[in-house]
Amino acid sequence: MSGVQINQLRKSFGPTNVIKGVDLDINPGEFVVFVGPSGCGKSTLLRLIAGLEEPSTGQIKIGSRDVTELPSSQREVSMVFQSYALYPHMNVEQNIGFGLRMNGVSKKVVSTKTQKVAKTLQLDHLLKRKPKQLSGGQKQRVAIGRAIIRDPKVFLFDEPLSNLDAELRVEMRLQIAKLHKGMPEATMIYVTHDQVEAMTMAHKIVVLRDGLIEQVGTPMDLYHRPINKFVAGFIGSPKMNFLEASLEQPGELRSTLKLADGSSIEAPVNTSGEHKGAKLTLGYRPEDVLVQKGDLGKHKLKLEVVENLGGTSFLYGKFSGEQSFVAEDKGAIHSHDEDISFDLDLTKVHLFSENGTALSKTISYRD
Ligand code: ADP
Ligand code: MG
Repeated sequence: MSGVQINQLRKSFGPTNVIKGVDLDINPGEFVVFVGPSGCGKSTLLRLIAGLEEPSTGQIKIGSRDVTELPSSQREVSMVFQSYALYPHMNVEQNIGFGLRMNGVSKKVVSTKTQKVAKTLQLDHLLKRKPKQLSGGQKQRVAIGRAIIRDPKVFLFDEPLSNLDAELRVEMRLQIAKLHKGMPEATMIYVTHDQVEAMTMAHKIVVLRDGLIEQVGTPMDLYHRPINKFVAGFIGSPKMNFLEASLEQPGELRSTLKLADGSSIEAPVNTSGEHKGAKLTLGYRPEDVLVQKGDLGKHKLKLEVVENLGGTSFLYGKFSGEQSFVAEDKGAIHSHDEDISFDLDLTKVHLFSENGTALSKTISYRD
């Protein structure tokens, strides 16, 4: 069992700073997901841990060993890439066993281990096939098999499912989750830009932005207690709604906010550090919107597009003229020319200061 410790890690490519001072503790056996927009440094951070890039400054420890100066081959990590990177001329069995064979492990042991890994990944009937005779999902399983067989201390996955179609992604996502259940001592670090993968697979999510960590927490921490507008907007699908809210009356326990439609609401959020009239942002998740027929609700929504998915509907429209707003109405069917209004459950309101920092929620709201 080995955790990973990262201290003050920085990486520049020439004049470009890519990783700008990352501190992170990953516990042994933890499934950690790095998530963030394209180009924020996820792959670079993973490659630094793998030893495929050299840090500019900082330290990386795996278990109790400082591996900062060690080559990749001595770090006892296995990496799985988006592109599979299989040897085209070798069959499945040879691809999976390659690393062990190179390390001089006996044929017999390689064969036994390969069989076992192939079984775990349901590849046992495909052992004699070449990569070109495999589907995308099967290729990715071979790549994972090649990583598992080496029995590494830490598994590193870089967007391993990005090349798969939607259905296979879901299937492989479950497979990888199961895989970790079967090897609870293995530490896994998994990079994705897909927040659904992050939410469903991670014990701990690390949200990265522009070479820095924005927030580290469990999926539910990030969902319910995002520390800023960036994290709030990144986690959740469809995205959290952001509405302009002017602070009418600051307060420690409750704050009165004026929305663009002229209505006032009282949110259980501490705004004692803000000034009256401050231009705040109200965050509200689509799934928490209470959709109402006609003008029964307090706020009007001008519908533009409706997506009826059977079990649920997404209503896309405009709030007070030009602010985009999405509401989810479970179990209901709507059409875009309906008159719709909505209410907010004030206990579900998030509030962000002008610089995007989340203001802390207080007690749950009672009228
Ligand atoms: P992500 O995986 O989050 O999409 P990357 O870690 O691949 O992001 O890249 C982060 C930034 O670092 C990007 O702007 C990318 O262009 C830059 N970068 C990555 N590798 C190199 C390199 N070898 N040389 C120069 N710039 C690089
Ligand atoms: Mg990447």
